[in-house]
Amino acid sequence: MNPYRDFDNYLKEYPDENGRFGQYGGQYLPEKLIPAFKEINDAYETICHSSQFINELRRIRKEFQGRPTPVYHCERLSKMLGKCQIYLKREDLNHTGAHKLNHCMGEGLLAKFMGKKKLIAETGAGQHGVALATAAAYFGMECDIYMGEVDIAKQAPNVTRMKMLGARVIPVTHGLKTLKEAVDAAFEAYLNEYQDAIYCIGSALGPHPFPKMVRDFQTIIGTEAREQFLEMTGIFPDAVCACVGGGSNSIGMFVPFLADPVEIIGVEPLGRGSGIGDHAASIAYGKKGILHGFESLMLQDENGDPAPVYSVASGLDYPSVGPEHANLHDMGRVKYESVSDDEAMEAFFMLCKYEGIIPAIESSHALAYAIRYAKTHETGSILACLSGRGDKDIDYVMEHYGEKFGIK
Ligand SMILES: *Cc1c(COP(=O)(O)O)cnc(C)c1O
Repeated sequence: MNPYRDFDNYLKEYPDENGRFGQYGGQYLPEKLIPAFKEINDAYETICHSSQFINELRRIRKEFQGRPTPVYHCERLSKMLGKCQIYLKREDLNHTGAHKLNHCMGEGLLAKFMGKKKLIAETGAGQHGVALATAAAYFGMECDIYMGEVDIAKQAPNVTRMKMLGARVIPVTHGLKTLKEAVDAAFEAYLNEYQDAIYCIGSALGPHPFPKMVRDFQTIIGTEAREQFLEMTGIFPDAVCACVGGGSNSIGMFVPFLADPVEIIGVEPLGRGSGIGDHAASIAYGKKGILHGFESLMLQDENGDPAPVYSVASGLDYPSVGPEHANLHDMGRVKYESVSDDEAMEAFFMLCKYEGIIPAIESSHALAYAIRYAKTHETGSILACLSGRGDKDIDYVMEHYGEKFGIK
């Protein structure tokens, strides 16, 4: 018996025409931007049914991004842990080294269809900025990336990459000079330039239609993985997991499995612990709130403002989460667990040593959960999304964890 057959029509029902996923999502915008988002929504609703658009995106994925990415069976790692088998969906092998390009290429193609000349976005650690600058170069568009001054100083290699790819990196100098201020600045810029530019959000969040659009573009992960896993083993995995920052690689991994007899687990970053400011587990510890144009679960301080967040993985430290995850949590279809910095770093080194793969610290959270699952299950299998490669992280890891793990 499959208890999840009710989810057969899930994609037709969520989101509704107002961009709501149950009690979350929607569109909270300054008056002036409402027509701009309507234009984006209308264009997307047109092209997502156009065979020309679908074929062009398919060609880009194959010839430029190098898709499909493989599913890989971690035989040595699994054997070391017991009898349960760990499999990875290798998004680290996607061009630019992570899943983010999946939605950036989709957004770039949409911008081209709309006749826009420029892509605008914010970036925190620089990963979204690099992926979007890549898309802009591919489509021959201008690209403005807003980035906090503090992040610019910390993420020099990604700043260099964006510049090499032809993007303008615009420093944001107010407030804490990090991601939240960068989002504010990018929105501000978009407000003045929406006639010629399109704003490209970095995850499955923001005002409608972005959570839906980014999900649709990222669904290639789960669609491929489901088919590949069935072909490799003849059955479904018992469980599927992925790390949840804003929620894009995870929603793309999960949606194709919703109607299958598969347990689904989203993995949030527990950082240094459960105290306010020590983690970024928005579903586990958040309350309903509105931030950056959408409603979702949000980590809040005593005044109801976004709480400070922390994770060893800079791609996971956002004080809210994509609205679809909040709803899947309410529906009880996806379970959300958390993994601490230490558990993630242990998983990082295990994958290096036993499988010859250096994972991103973000992805190491999903891997850590898969390892925990394998240790506590006698048989069966778990398929984890390895959202990105760890080249960007090696200097940081050596400095902070080299001694602990005996390589320094
Ligand atoms: C940005 C990033 C994430 C987190 O973003 P999601 O939108 O939650 O997927 C995870 N892994 C890697 C490698 C990233 O670069």
